[in-house]
Amino acid sequence: MKKISRRSFIKTGLTAIAATAAASPILTACDSIANINRKTSLGSGKIKLSYRCVDLQQRHTFTISGFSRDFTPNIQVRLEYDGVVAYGEGGLPPYMIGQTKETASEFMSKINLDQFSSPFMVDDILRYVDSIAPGMSCAKSAFDIALHDLIGKLLNVPCHRLFGYNPEKTPCTSYTIGIDTEEMVRKKTEEAAAYKILKVKLGIDEKTDKGLIKAVRSVSDKPIIIDANQGWKDKHLALDMIHWLKEQGVQMVEQPMPKTVFDDMAWVTAHSPLPTFADESCQRLVDVPKLHGVFTGINIKLIKCTGLHEARQMIATAEALGMKVMIGCTGESSCAISAAAQVSPRTNWADLDGALLITNDMFDGVKFVDGKITLNDRPGIGAELIGEW
Ligand code: MG
Repeated sequence: MKKISRRSFIKTGLTAIAATAAASPILTACDSIANINRKTSLGSGKIKLSYRCVDLQQRHTFTISGFSRDFTPNIQVRLEYDGVVAYGEGGLPPYMIGQTKETASEFMSKINLDQFSSPFMVDDILRYVDSIAPGMSCAKSAFDIALHDLIGKLLNVPCHRLFGYNPEKTPCTSYTIGIDTEEMVRKKTEEAAAYKILKVKLGIDEKTDKGLIKAVRSVSDKPIIIDANQGWKDKHLALDMIHWLKEQGVQMVEQPMPKTVFDDMAWVTAHSPLPTFADESCQRLVDVPKLHGVFTGINIKLIKCTGLHEARQMIATAEALGMKVMIGCTGESSCAISAAAQVSPRTNWADLDGALLITNDMFDGVKFVDGKITLNDRPGIGAELIGEW
């Protein structure tokens, strides 16, 4: 794969900046509309924030290359303004190093919204929240989702409509089969009967990986996408595996190699018969131009990129660079999943099965009809709290 010259790097950077500048005019327009509409009925002018931490129980012990877990800690956010209540959520999986229930709560306790008289100052509010501390993207995303839910509810509009996205264009979600014994992989594949695309976790070693694919193929001929979670350390192994996987009906491969191995990954992508997607290599907007020429596409997760506001900028940037986009998730309830689904009409692939893989969903939200993400018409992110806060 060719090395990126300084000139093309600068060009790439400028493209990204231009795309970013153009990414979110609609919310700005809504600010004016909301100000006009609400001049006669101003509320307290205070945005009230509260939060709680919960553990979401995984249906099966969830194993990926490098980690295994039975539950996913989450932070959930509640915003209230002028009698309207909104919710957000961010998963705190173990691979988000340093982001725990304790650190996320501590971050949330530092947010002081008294300086903002209107929740419609989305850009100002989110810049302030992002500036409080570096990192902490899971907590920032939970807040961002709640703010978008609040805006949508105050305007009585679903977020996808606020963004100008066509709800008919949602993709099907994939359903994830975590690393397990071949017998359990067959069982999990059968449990995925309602979903049209299987996402299979690999990245152990060549023999084990091929055995898991053969186990899936013994019970299903559905399209498969692969997530190697950085598991293939050698570029020749990665490419050999991708060629073999193509013959098994695999359609794309996520994060084949370690996240910082760019030159070897660019070589794999250049020779790969399947599209490659960056997950661990792609955290926030600033990463997207660097991945041009290294991967075919990016996997955006709200917990990595601080929420919907930046996710939309990443989508626009990737599209401007000619890259593909996937929207992903972690172990999250129908709150965060419904939020991610709001931007799914602008993505090529979706892996929004988080709420399907847990047993204690606390929200009612987006549904999957024959595997297709089906957005509802509720205002905001389209999720309603079940039970008490
Ligand atoms: Mg992944």
